[in-house]
Amino acid sequence: MMNEDRILDGSRNAAAIRDEVAAEVAVLRTAGVVPRLEVILAGDDPASRVYVGSKAKTCAALGMESITHELPATVGQAELFNLVDRLNNDTEVDGILVQLPLPDGLDSHGVLDRVDPAKDVDGFHPTNVGLLQQGRPALVPCTPAGVMEMLRRENITIKGRRVVVVGRSDIVGKPMAMMMLHAHATVTMCHSRTRDLAAVTREAEILVAAVGQLALIGADDVSEGAVVVDVGMHRVTDRETVERLYGSNPKKMAAFEKRGAVLSGDVDFEKVAPKASRITPVPGGVGPLTIAMLMANTARAARLRRGV
Ligand code: NAP
Repeated sequence: MMNEDRILDGSRNAAAIRDEVAAEVAVLRTAGVVPRLEVILAGDDPASRVYVGSKAKTCAALGMESITHELPATVGQAELFNLVDRLNNDTEVDGILVQLPLPDGLDSHGVLDRVDPAKDVDGFHPTNVGLLQQGRPALVPCTPAGVMEMLRRENITIKGRRVVVVGRSDIVGKPMAMMMLHAHATVTMCHSRTRDLAAVTREAEILVAAVGQLALIGADDVSEGAVVVDVGMHRVTDRETVERLYGSNPKKMAAFEKRGAVLSGDVDFEKVAPKASRITPVPGGVGPLTIAMLMANTARAARLRRGV
């Protein structure tokens, strides 16, 4: 049976971060500043719509304003550029977030490059990417920042330890590795061309999985006592798969019977948890931290840009 102390509780840490942001926003408001996030949502991807909805709700809960610009999937590049330009020039706008993925045919890099780096609360602009690489970050990507913040709050030592990051995306894997490097870890990055992945991941004292492959990381991929962080997020609806992953977990099976789906990660939690010293669950791990850090970035952008 799983010892609950081993769980790295993203929801609890995210709640603590949100409380701190709410306090920061209260101070900003007394100075006459109401941080405002503007979100661009193009197309009708249902998952994106859910994410954007929860970002707006969290903004409101913390005393910040948010406006969502819903655009049809047929929106042109020029129209998108015009909107970004208008938000860049509006002094009341503190954060601009372009919800990805953009509909086919639109140049994501072009749009993200156009966002004012001082309002780039996702930390995807090349200027912010470069600053992070140099170890003088302004606004940094929310998911890896959330992981770092949780490890700090949970007093997990990073300095000098072997960290393996599986996945090299621009939004998670690469900035994660860079943040770990700045925290003085010895970092290895893995990807789809890595030979003998298990041999590398077994070296990890801290293993971060950001792969986008359901339950790719199994018990044989993790060494005894490792800290395991699962960034992956999958909605699993296939009964056979759910039984394979969670057959021995009555709570998860009951959730599946009730909703016809369960959320799961890149780590096979039930098999890996007994070996890990600490491990994030899915859901309730990295997901809530991402939104909390977006809120923190928006408040920070407001503070820095408006000189409060
Ligand atoms: P991505 O852009 O698809 O990148 C996946 C990375 O994993 C790539 O670098 C790929 O290697 C690597 N990879 C794929 N299959 C592999 C394999 N079999 N062995 C080793 N490496 C492999 O994904 P992402 O945007 O980083 O997201 C990763 C996961 O995190 C997804 O499940 C996503 O839904 C989730 N996510 C969650 C949050 C959150 O807030 N919880 C936020 C962002 C993302 P190559 O580069 O060689 O192709």
